[in-house]
Amino acid sequence: MLVAKAARDAQRAHRRHVQVQEAEHALLLREHHIRSRLRAGATRFDDADREILHRFVLEACRDLARECGDHCGGPVPERGPNAAAVLRWAGVGPDDHTTWPVHRGDCALTGSSVRTRADV
Ligand SMILES: [Zn+2]
Repeated sequence: MLVAKAARDAQRAHRRHVQVQEAEHALLLREHHIRSRLRAGATRFDDADREILHRFVLEACRDLARECGDHCGGPVPERGPNAAAVLRWAGVGPDDHTTWPVHRGDCALTGSSVRTRADV
């Protein structure tokens, strides 16, 4: 009886593990699909993709604020194709600090409210 319970517990744990892996795999595929569409210049996305798009925009904008040198809004290194596509979609210009929705706290725009496409 204990062996049977242990077997059922192991099967249940395995099913849970497989479900988690399948969900992670589906998310990776969805992210890859969205990145591909962004690089191709797509502008319209399903509402279901919005959470992923918001995360992409936030990450890309944080990277701008992190990599802009000794003051917020300084020059940033050239963006990779994925980050460039995300920023273009969101209407954020790496060379136009006034479009950045994320700031470090050492510029006049800190605390300002900038809307991006991702906010709509
Ligand atoms: Zn700033």
